[in-house]
Amino acid sequence: SAEFLLCFTYYLIVLSSELLPSSVALSNTHPLSKVPGLAVVIVGSRKDSQSYKVDELNADPDVHGILVQLPLPKHLNEEKVLSEISIDKDVDGFHPLNISKLAMKGREPLFQPCTPKGCLELLSRSGISVKGKKAVVVGRSNIVGLPVSLLLLKADATVTVVHSHTSSPESTIREADIVIAAAGQAMMIKGDWIKPGASVFDVGTNAVDDPSKKAGYRLVGDVDFQEACKVAGWVTTVPGGMGSMTVAMLLKNTLDGAKHKIDH
Ligand code: NDP
Repeated sequence: SAEFLLCFTYYLIVLSSELLPSSVALSNTHPLSKVPGLAVVIVGSRKDSQSYKVDELNADPDVHGILVQLPLPKHLNEEKVLSEISIDKDVDGFHPLNISKLAMKGREPLFQPCTPKGCLELLSRSGISVKGKKAVVVGRSNIVGLPVSLLLLKADATVTVVHSHTSSPESTIREADIVIAAAGQAMMIKGDWIKPGASVFDVGTNAVDDPSKKAGYRLVGDVDFQEACKVAGWVTTVPGGMGSMTVAMLLKNTLDGAKHKIDH
C-alpha cells in the first residue's frame, strides 16, 4: 500500500559516464533512524564504479538493502559486484552465499530472490499446496529459473526444469500441476500445453509490436493468456502479476533486513 511504501527511504543511484561518484553522495541524515532504507544501483559505463558504490553502501547504516540492476554492462564483472554486497544487505538474494544456502537441505538463506519468493508467496496465499505436486519451471537463469526451482524443491514439489535444449517441452509442461514460465519467449506456452486445472505463474515479460499502442508495443507473458485461462485453474496476468509480487517481495526483504539489523 502507499502507506507501506512511504515507510521506506529509497535511494536511487545512477552511475554513468556523466556523473562523478561524488555527485551522487547519499544522504545519511534521515530523521527516523529506524526507517528501512533501500539503495538501487543502476550502473552506466564507468568501469571504476565497479565496487566503489557497493563498498560505500555496505558501510552506510541507513541502508538495509542494496539492489544492483541486472544485467550489468558487459565490461563489468557481475559475479564480483554481487559478491561484494554485504550478505546482510543482499535483498535481491543473489549473493553466492545466499544462493548456495538456498540449494542446501536444512539451510536457509537470509534473503530469497524476489521473483522466485513472489511465486511461492502467491502459491501460499492462493491456498495452492506444493508438497508432492509436479512442478515444471521453464527457464534456468540465475535470476528466476534456477532459484524458483530450488524453492519449489525446498517446498517438497517434484521439480522438472525445462530449458532451450529440452526436447518436446510441451509434453513435459502438460504433466505439471504447477507451471512457472520464465523463458522470455512471448506466448510460447499454448493452452493445449497445460494440464486442466493447473496453476500457471507467468514471469515472462516480453515486448511485442503493437501499432495500436502509443508506445508502439505492449507487454505479454510467456504464456498465451487467452488460451491458458480456458484450461488452467489459476493463471497470472502480464503485466500486473509476478512483476507486482517481485516489488512487494523486494520491500519485504528490505523490511526484514532492517529488522535483522535491529535484532543483531
Ligand atoms: P534469461 O534470458 O536469463 O533466461 C531464459 C531462460 O529460458 C534460459 O534458461 C533459457 O534456456 C530458457 N529458454 C529460452 N528459450 C526457451 C525455449 N524456447 N524453451 C525453453 N526454455 C527456453 O531470462 P530471465 O530468467 O532473466 O527472464 C526470463 C523472463 O522473465 C524474461 O521475459 C524477463 O523479462 C522476465 N522477468 C520478469 C520478472 C518479473 O518481475 N516479472 C523478473 C525477472 C525476469 P538456456 O539456459 O538453455 O539458454
